[in-house]
Amino acid sequence: MPGPASSTKTLIIGAGLAGLSCALHHEGEAQILEAGGRVGGKATTERHEGFTFDVTGHWLHLRDPDIERLVLDMLGEDHFTMVDRISRIWSSGVYTEYPFQANVHGLPPAVVHECLMGAIEAITGRPETVALEDEPENFADWIRFYFGEGIARHFMVPYNAKLWGVDATEITSRWCQRFVPRPKLEDIVAGAVGHKAIRMGYNARFRYPKAGGIESLPEALGDRVGRERIFLNQAARRFDLDARTVTLADGRTVKFAHLVNTMALTKFIDAIDSPVPQAVRDARAKLRATETVYFNVGVEGPVGQPDHWIYVPELEWPMYRVGVFSNAIPAMAPAGCGSLYVEMADRTTPAEAIAPKVTEGLVAMGLIESAAQVRFMHPRRIPNAYVVYDFNYHAARQTIHDWLATQGVQSIGRYGDWNYSSMEDAMIDGRRAAHRLRELSA
Ligand SMILES: Cc1cc2nc3c(=O)[nH]c(=O)nc-3n(C[C@H](O)[C@H](O)[C@H](O)COP(=O)(O)OP(=O)(O)OC[C@H]3O[C@@H](n4cnc5c(N)ncnc54)[C@H](O)[C@@H]3O)c2cc1C
Repeated sequence: MPGPASSTKTLIIGAGLAGLSCALHHEGEAQILEAGGRVGGKATTERHEGFTFDVTGHWLHLRDPDIERLVLDMLGEDHFTMVDRISRIWSSGVYTEYPFQANVHGLPPAVVHECLMGAIEAITGRPETVALEDEPENFADWIRFYFGEGIARHFMVPYNAKLWGVDATEITSRWCQRFVPRPKLEDIVAGAVGHKAIRMGYNARFRYPKAGGIESLPEALGDRVGRERIFLNQAARRFDLDARTVTLADGRTVKFAHLVNTMALTKFIDAIDSPVPQAVRDARAKLRATETVYFNVGVEGPVGQPDHWIYVPELEWPMYRVGVFSNAIPAMAPAGCGSLYVEMADRTTPAEAIAPKVTEGLVAMGLIESAAQVRFMHPRRIPNAYVVYDFNYHAARQTIHDWLATQGVQSIGRYGDWNYSSMEDAMIDGRRAAHRLRELSA
């Protein structure tokens, strides 16, 4: 297969969903350089002995009508199943409904009492409406402000520390508006006494391919873009934004007029050889991200719980979430078996040393009956999986993007933009970047 042309009007770095969507929506000449051997980035799928695994749960939520139309037009409605989320929290040895704050019924009475009293105190103790600028700045205080001490202590503070890999006091509360459901007091009380389970949150229903994993989405996008415009195994190594060139791993250079980057913003800045202002280098040094460590688990025989994913907030367990692909899509495991992912809060202990405790947890959670059911447990790592929304985040990120704009560079997607966002967001980002390119060319 021929390599990329030595010169192109628009060069896109990365064939994940953001890069592919940018190429698709772009009307002019463009080529994509992709470091990996296939398209899709984080939205790729792995297979082993008849078990299918995405890079942990990659459930598809589509809110943008044009993106939804594009996806359904490419793959057809029949390609997907609509799944009603089944997700619970496992703590104190029992299961409660998601979200925890609205469904504490079933926990030990002392825990329910603490959660309820804390919520009553928090909600009655603050004004009915609170301006954004008057909200507590750190996430731990924000949680206590809205949900009270009990819910903070039994779920939200430890769970978020496990997920983000840093204490909730280090995270700014500004990131969480879209993601943390805030039930009313009457709903919290109803959920505490078991009157009704409250289903809340942005992801109560999702689409998922009936077979083959999420990778069919970027594969379809790749076909639409045209494979002749996508160059696999072509890692961009160094950038000269003055000369408008990128140097590839094999030493060849590609010249561009416009550059759209989707690789991690930190790595991108580090790879620029032309002068980068000190303020931008300082800002880059402030950006932090957490690695995700997870296991793909192949289970022999039935999985004992119906959930698509389960939150595990207690610190004594090394995992913070366990998902079961095959509960959503049975075809993701051989008949009668289960394919699971287990996301780990412990990112430093070698995987083989944690594996026995993970298995013990799967048994305690009732997902498997014994360790004998585990056919394999493969550790995987995602560098930079979650960017950390600490107190430097907003200003540092903005400084970098403002400077990149002066260099005629758009850095987009979950990692290029440096944010917490979904597959659909990545496709929206790509579309927005393409529209911006059109404006620049007009
Ligand atoms: C653990 C986890 C769970 C998630 N769950 C969900 C979910 O359930 N639902 C949902 O909607 N979203 C989910 N997401 C988010 C989703 O994965 C991302 O939003 C989306 O896939 C990001 O696409 P992207 O194109 O921005 O980045 P990426 O997918 O990272 O694509 C970037 C591409 O750039 C390439 N690249 C990197 N460096 C170079 C280089 N030097 N030269 C050339 N190419 C390079 C990479 O190989 C990659 O293909 C999850 C993410 C994570 C980490």
